[in-house]
Amino acid sequence: MKNYLLNLPIRGKIFLCFIIAIAATTLSSGFFLETRVRKIIEAHITNELETSSSSILDAINSTASASIKNRLRGIAEKNFDITSYFYNLQINGKLSEKEAKEQASSVLLSQTIGKTGYIYCVDNTGVIKVHPEPSLHNKDISRFSFIKRQMSAKEGYLEYNWKNPSDLKERSKALYMVYFEPWNWIISVSSYRAEFKNLIDVADFRGSILNRRFGATGYSYLIDLKGNLILHPKLEGTNIFNYVDANGRMFIQELCQQKSGSIIYPWKNPDELVARNKLVIFNHIPEYDWIIASSSYIDEFYRPVTTIRIIIASITFLTLMIALLLSFWISSFITDPLKHLMTKLDLGAKGDLSVRMDVNTTEEIGKLAGYFNEFMDRLELHHRELDKLVKERTRDLEEEMAERIKVAEKLESHMELLETFRNTIASPVFYKDSNGVYLGCNTAFSSLILGVENDVIIGKALVDMNNIIADKKLSALHDRDMKRIQLGGSEKYEDTVRCADAVVRDFMFSVATFADHAGKTAGLAGVMMDLTEINKARQKIQEQADKINETNKRLAQLAALDGLTGISNRRTFQEQLDLQIRLSSRNDHTISLLLIDVDHFKSYNDTFGHTAGDEILKQLANTLDESTRSTDTVARYGGEEFTVILPNTEKKKALYMGKIFQKAIADKAWAHRDITVSIGIASEKFIISAASQSEDMMLLFVNKADKALYRSKETGRNCITHHDDIPPG
Ligand code: GH3
Ligand code: MG
Ligand code: MG
Repeated sequence: MKNYLLNLPIRGKIFLCFIIAIAATTLSSGFFLETRVRKIIEAHITNELETSSSSILDAINSTASASIKNRLRGIAEKNFDITSYFYNLQINGKLSEKEAKEQASSVLLSQTIGKTGYIYCVDNTGVIKVHPEPSLHNKDISRFSFIKRQMSAKEGYLEYNWKNPSDLKERSKALYMVYFEPWNWIISVSSYRAEFKNLIDVADFRGSILNRRFGATGYSYLIDLKGNLILHPKLEGTNIFNYVDANGRMFIQELCQQKSGSIIYPWKNPDELVARNKLVIFNHIPEYDWIIASSSYIDEFYRPVTTIRIIIASITFLTLMIALLLSFWISSFITDPLKHLMTKLDLGAKGDLSVRMDVNTTEEIGKLAGYFNEFMDRLELHHRELDKLVKERTRDLEEEMAERIKVAEKLESHMELLETFRNTIASPVFYKDSNGVYLGCNTAFSSLILGVENDVIIGKALVDMNNIIADKKLSALHDRDMKRIQLGGSEKYEDTVRCADAVVRDFMFSVATFADHAGKTAGLAGVMMDLTEINKARQKIQEQADKINETNKRLAQLAALDGLTGISNRRTFQEQLDLQIRLSSRNDHTISLLLIDVDHFKSYNDTFGHTAGDEILKQLANTLDESTRSTDTVARYGGEEFTVILPNTEKKKALYMGKIFQKAIADKAWAHRDITVSIGIASEKFIISAASQSEDMMLLFVNKADKALYRSKETGRNCITHHDDIPPG
């Protein structure tokens, strides 16, 4: 709608404005006028119908009054004559004044006026002289206003309202009086007006009711409370109590019940097609219980409104026609120069920047033409400048373009190189963006690791490939890469991967993040090195090394231990002795050395065999070993000779130890015969200053023990000799 209004030509806009203005003015004034006229008409109808009702009422009343007055005057004058008759009898002396008055009174009081009316007399001071009610005789009733009027007028017709003590409200009364001066009697003939209803002759006011007209066909009628039409232009004398309107409403019954007011009812005449609303205004005449009603069709009253509508519609149409012509005329002042300007602008828009307008006037259009010319001048200037600038810029761009092409070519060759590298490298290679989505990989990666084509991987992250690849570790590997992308930098780690051929292989991952042109981490590149074979080789080497170590250990043991007895051999003995000599020198303590030789072992061998001899040697070595401390060294020196090194042991303790050994041997049950040993001991505290000294000292020390052993053999065997106890010579 808004767009439609905006796109309306100027002519249309002006016309639309005129329409809106005219419509608003005519409609609002029409509405106002109609409302006002309606109100005036309504007031007028009500007033007219009410006035009519009340004037009819007045007519009925005055007719009634005239009839009543004539009737009452006749009675009053007749009674004046009666009173005069009795007065004459008094004058003539036939009756006394009292008798005359009494007889006159009884004649007066014997008459009934209407139904309840009567004759009474008051004097000119308002005192009752004759009255049907005896108790009222000679009562002064001059206080009542109608008595006052009687006192002053004495003769004539009088109407007043009177309320008996038994009545609920005042009722209208009429009275005619004549003055009988000789007796000072105001002879009054009075009765209620309603009682003279039969005196009223409707013909007296027929004209004033039936001649009234409201609208075109409106009229008045008189009806009693039982629906009898007393006066009606057409239906007089009929009963319409049960009449219904077009809707079936018993409006006459309602009218008779309401007595006064107004009713609107739809009424359809036999010669009309549709029912029309009719208004009836009605008033009650309580004295006679009649209703005077005035009715008319409402549309007849509102006919002026229809006329006003037609006039307003005609004025509106005429004004619109004028507005249409005016809007065409006014708009041509604006649109013609505008069309001219538009043509010029169109030429300008098509590229002709030389177009200009003629500036003939100084009003808005003239100014607009001036602005247009100025605008075109500037546009032309700008166009020229722009043209120059475009040429310069084009040249720059061409140069820049050439430079870019060179760079692109270089980049392309680099890309090709990279592609060659990627597919030449046997190891799987991949690279992904900062969201973990693969940007590229070589065939080793796609086919060996994932078992799919390259293009299946590109554009996907590891976690998106659960349905393609069976390895459950995909999400863990993805998370690890994402963590690296977050931290930046590079790392190497080993992990196992279930490859496309379902073989689980060991890989060394070398990954590193790469940055975009702004230096922000753009993704991660990785190379995978298959370590499966290397790891297998490594394991084999390790196993062999373990074996060698074991052998070496055994060799060392063999080198250090005696093959037969399993205790230290002579080499170990020498090493230990060398060590203990050094420790003795450092710690300043004494070492004792025992040389133990089996007595007559040759004969044992000879007698029981060499194998039995070997067994003896094993048992002996075992016995010695069991009898020593862990810090002591027991060794087979050679043949059937043993040595024991006792570190930090003085001579006395060494001798004691020798005895322990002999006892242990003696306590043992030996095969074939008892075994004894001869022991030679040397004890010494060493002080060494040079490494070379140790070996010499060791030789001297062993010789000392050997000498002591020799002494033990000499002195009968199975004994212990300490070198220090050998007698000189
Ligand atoms: P002595 O009381 O003077 O020491 O007399 P002997 O017989 O023990 O001494 P001799 O030196 O004459 O003999 C040593 C013997 O020890 C010679 C050899 O039969 C024996 N013998 C040396 N080594 C072994 C060995 O490994 N096994 C056996 N069964 N006998 C050995
Ligand atoms: Mg020997
Ligand atoms: Mg021996």
